[in-house]
Amino acid sequence: MSVQYKKIKVKCPVCFSEKIIKLPQTLFQQKKFGNIKVQVSKGLVCDKHPFILFLDNNAVVKGYEKIDFQFDMPIEEEDVELTEDIIAKFSINDILKKWGTYILYNFLHGYIFNYPIYILIRKEIPDLTDSINELFPKFKPTQLNKTGTISSIEFKTYDAIELTEDKSLLIDPSGIVIQSPWSSKLKFEEEIVKKALDIIDVQGQNIIIKKEIEKFLNQADKIVDLLKQVKIIYDVDLIDKLSDELMQPKISNDRLIALREYIARKYDPKIVKKIKNKVREFLRFL
Ligand SMILES: [Zn+2]
Repeated sequence: MSVQYKKIKVKCPVCFSEKIIKLPQTLFQQKKFGNIKVQVSKGLVCDKHPFILFLDNNAVVKGYEKIDFQFDMPIEEEDVELTEDIIAKFSINDILKKWGTYILYNFLHGYIFNYPIYILIRKEIPDLTDSINELFPKFKPTQLNKTGTISSIEFKTYDAIELTEDKSLLIDPSGIVIQSPWSSKLKFEEEIVKKALDIIDVQGQNIIIKKEIEKFLNQADKIVDLLKQVKIIYDVDLIDKLSDELMQPKISNDRLIALREYIARKYDPKIVKKIKNKVREFLRFL
């Protein structure tokens, strides 16, 4: 049976160029939570801007998100047999080549933030689950005791077992996020991947990612300490305090959003509610 496609009219959110793209019909036939996310690489809809496209279950466009940074377009490679040697040398570059930046950020987020990750099995696409399982523990600092598990799964099985709740990441190996249980823009993951890509050698890249995750975990621990001492704290004050205590430059708002999500999952969702937004509080009084 040949693959059925759905045609979708897509508009670049930056320059508004339009094009019809085709996606496999099966993507929309599964029970799932939230929108499907597709990384639209440069050249697919317009030549200048990559972006993320959000689609609902009826393939209706629900929105777009701009991407500031993109690694080279995924390169179509001939399928090579996955020998032990190739699996051992597998790196983030391979994920980037196969799937692009956005899928890599999603994998990292699921792994670090401890969400179950499923990669759908498709006959025509090689299954890279083993390679990813070999690679990701190389990023794992000892403090990170629980990570997301990565497994491959059949469409039908996933439907039956996992979709009773919306707590897992589901990736289609054609490079599409079918389901993700967070609303985060994955800026933290973008930051660490950018840093790692400054290094050419693979071992060096792995060390950079591990160090960056370590730094993130230390920031999370410190924030938990600080929150235990107060009833409420404004985000701006928390960022100042954290910088003082760790003797590090001030973290960005995006980093604080990622830390809040991590702390809520690892420690307690209530403790992060102590962090208030100064601008929002101020607006409430107007
Ligand atoms: Zn454009």
